[in-house]
Amino acid sequence: MPKLPVYLDYHATTPADPRVVEVMAPYFTERFGNAASRHHPFGWAARDAAEAGRRQVAELIGADPREICFTSGATESNNLALKGALSAAGAARPHVVTVATEHRAVLDPCRRLADAGARVTEVAPDSDGLVSPKSIERALTDDTVLVSVMLANNEIGVLQPIAEIAEITRARGILLHSDAAQAVGRVPVDVGALGVDLLSFTAHKLYGPKGIGALYVRRRRPRVPLAPIIDGGGHERGLRSGTLNVPGIVGFGAAAEICRTELAAEEERIGRLRDRLLAALTGRLDGVTVNGSLERRLPHNLNVSFAGVEGESLLVGLDDVAVSSGAACTTASPSLEPSHVLRAIGLPDELARASLRFGLGRWTTEEEIDYAADKVASLVTRLRELSPVTRAS
Ligand SMILES: *Cc1c(COP(=O)(O)O)cnc(C)c1O
Repeated sequence: MPKLPVYLDYHATTPADPRVVEVMAPYFTERFGNAASRHHPFGWAARDAAEAGRRQVAELIGADPREICFTSGATESNNLALKGALSAAGAARPHVVTVATEHRAVLDPCRRLADAGARVTEVAPDSDGLVSPKSIERALTDDTVLVSVMLANNEIGVLQPIAEIAEITRARGILLHSDAAQAVGRVPVDVGALGVDLLSFTAHKLYGPKGIGALYVRRRRPRVPLAPIIDGGGHERGLRSGTLNVPGIVGFGAAAEICRTELAAEEERIGRLRDRLLAALTGRLDGVTVNGSLERRLPHNLNVSFAGVEGESLLVGLDDVAVSSGAACTTASPSLEPSHVLRAIGLPDELARASLRFGLGRWTTEEEIDYAADKVASLVTRLRELSPVTRAS
């Protein structure tokens, strides 16, 4: 029996690696300096630590350290990328292209921009969750300033064809932003190979601390024009003012370095566990469908729907397995609205609500997977026996 409850919600957040916490600790106490203090060793030590963290973070994505702008997380990075790029472009009626399955941290800033006069196109993905580069191309106009497409989807884990989209945007001089919060540290990400101009990511999704993230901002070919959304002391080359979160940056750097060295082995192990989970569920149940492409997908993600069960009873019954459901998993407010992602790939509301998202991670064990699979399969079987009518409808 594994230690309960079993955590299978690594897309929501990851625990910080104890090795990360250990290197952060002194930066709260004896090395507490402000990285902007130029005239004494307290400041110098803080600045050196922040710059070392910046190098580690940059290396994980193949960037130059000067291309890393630290923020409070991927939400802020997305806001800076979208609002900052449009503000710098200064067009009267700029156009933005994004995808209907993006995270709220992209869709909501886009809606804010639309309120302020921008035109926003939300491209629909195919039924496997992937957006075709052709459909992005068709959405472009002479006024398009920016295209924003996430690298890995936070619900269904599909990996979008960013490099192909970049070829299209580059040829037309349009900026490409990618929300890579779910991908960085979990699959290889190289900004050069992807051809992106802006890329958002966050430490708490890669075993680092909460409250620290980064925006990659391309410096050359082309240099990306970006206006700040937070003004103050001119930190981060004027892009994001505010005293640097030195402990956070140190932790982000350490977490990035661990991911860089352990990623390949780790994702192979986790991918095997994910496949074991899927095999166990489909072995015991019929009426199980995988949402999103299984081939172009994060190795640690599984999102499945169970025909003939009610979403609410599914969640209530899973008291000792922490997962997310196809209902209410994208907002902070409790609601049973089916997920906009599952809707966008064509799932009927009933099936979307009867979906579970499993996110595996660094500390997931075989024993936990077997426990979770058994728990879910027994529950689904029991719920179907209780309400055979729902099933037939
Ligand atoms: C978690 C997540 C975010 C938000 O990141 P924060 O650091 O919590 O602000 C944004 N986009 C995606 C795809 C995410 O998974």
